[in-house]
Amino acid sequence: VPAGKLRVLPLGGLGEIGKNMTVIEYDGRIVVVDTGLMFPTAEMLGIDLVLPDFSYLRDRVDDIEAIVLTHGHEDHVGALPYVLRELGQPPVIYSGMLTIGMVRAKLDEHKLGNAPLQELPAGEKVRVGPFELELIHLSHSIPDARGVLLTTEVGSVLMTGDYKFDQTPVDGRPADISRLAELGRDGLLLLCGDSTNADRAGVAPSESSVGPALVETFASCEGRIIVTSFASNIHRVQQVIDAAVQLDRRVALVGRSMRKNFNIASNLGIAKAPSGLFIQPREIENFPDEKVIVISTGSQGEPLSALRRMANNDHRDVELHSGDTVVFSATPVPGNERAVNETIDRIYEIGARVVTAKDAPIHASGHGWQEELKLMLNLTKPRYVLPVHGDHQRLRLHAGLAESVGIPPENIFQGRNGLPLEVDQNGAHFGEEIHAGVIYVDGVNVGEPDDVALRDRREISADGLFIVVATISSEDGHVVADPEVLFRGVAFLEEADALVEDLRDLVEDSLEDAAKAGTRELHLVQEDLHDAVAGLVYEKLRRRPMIVPVVVEV
Ligand SMILES: [Zn+2]
Ligand SMILES: [Zn+2]
Repeated sequence: VPAGKLRVLPLGGLGEIGKNMTVIEYDGRIVVVDTGLMFPTAEMLGIDLVLPDFSYLRDRVDDIEAIVLTHGHEDHVGALPYVLRELGQPPVIYSGMLTIGMVRAKLDEHKLGNAPLQELPAGEKVRVGPFELELIHLSHSIPDARGVLLTTEVGSVLMTGDYKFDQTPVDGRPADISRLAELGRDGLLLLCGDSTNADRAGVAPSESSVGPALVETFASCEGRIIVTSFASNIHRVQQVIDAAVQLDRRVALVGRSMRKNFNIASNLGIAKAPSGLFIQPREIENFPDEKVIVISTGSQGEPLSALRRMANNDHRDVELHSGDTVVFSATPVPGNERAVNETIDRIYEIGARVVTAKDAPIHASGHGWQEELKLMLNLTKPRYVLPVHGDHQRLRLHAGLAESVGIPPENIFQGRNGLPLEVDQNGAHFGEEIHAGVIYVDGVNVGEPDDVALRDRREISADGLFIVVATISSEDGHVVADPEVLFRGVAFLEEADALVEDLRDLVEDSLEDAAKAGTRELHLVQEDLHDAVAGLVYEKLRRRPMIVPVVVEV
């Protein structure tokens, strides 16, 4: 990195929706802004998560002063556990109160509970190596969204994070417009701004406009109401709760992340509900339909989410039926449209009603529209602009908006992941590109029970299932009945009979070996059996179905 230059290196989030992560360097020191992830697309079968390739940081661990998180959405914080594992000794992690609370819960689950998390109130300045760091309060579809202002000797860079200019936010705390205007007055060197809605003309509706629309929608429902939204959209969940109170309905929070996020927000005083309002999911059936609102995860049609299970008649506590109304208080994130449409159609099949944001104004985007992006540009008056957080089309549109408010075209940069922008008072230009790929995560190594279940399902759906049943003598471990081999969903096969025969022989041999060796521990016998069967199946089929050995002692 050239001396005296501020260098901004996006590792993710440009040319895509998701996995936002930016490395900001000055004087050989680094601040990382956001560590986001992306959810896999349908064709990434067997992949749980997609992360930015942060190998650039591997050789620079000692240079990292801090990680700063703009807000608690997964596309900004989801990769943090993986980044921290890679770094070993974690640097200080700064963010707002709710983000810290959500990240603390996430890191605990990953057994990284001792990472140094530091709440930094908006407007307070802290020295971080050669940088002065300040978080600026903005509004978004999650509380405590912050812009990140990093000031060096050569000037300041503002990473907006995700934002809108909501004049009537639910918590009554609009974006700190006067601070943004100060940046414009004092001279901002570089603005890296959210481009998500650069294609939408006008101004995004206020989050608080959603509440009355929800009340109106709910009031027209005679039976049970199931509302789905992002679990992290605390203000939306709050508005559903408020509507429930107004309409004298009890509320059940369904889905792990829904309960978790509400608890975190409620403990921090960001969300509240009157005592006695909540009922447990298992109690839902005990209340009259017209007295219940269920708030559920699954607004994006996620495969194992509560709503998707309900739509498939596969939820433990909620059985959808005609008379129910399912309210989608969210719109599909690009890429999720198909899963959402499938979920909706299943609900119709069951006979329940569906209300989406197309039917009533029951959703407001958390990202500003064109006039808000222009307002950000006009307030902060940056010398240079690097649009971020969007596909290439939206980055281009955002660049056009910057030009329309009078930023000279040569000062507006069309970036991509891995391409660093080097800036000082004399100019800005792209530096030498680095490789910025992706990292895939397969959740089995993390060891969360949910992840194992997921992996099992995927394994079965990909390659099928073999069940091997064997009966051995409890006295000496010898085989006392012919082993049985059953299979389901295994794509083959002309020589099925021959394979089953081979497998039965193999099972007998494996069990007799165990008996001879004196292995009597049943789970060890089953493990050996599993490995033997898996080996032969792979040899014959070149596939890895799930193998379930069942050994019975008589
Ligand atoms: Zn985002
Ligand atoms: Zn966001």
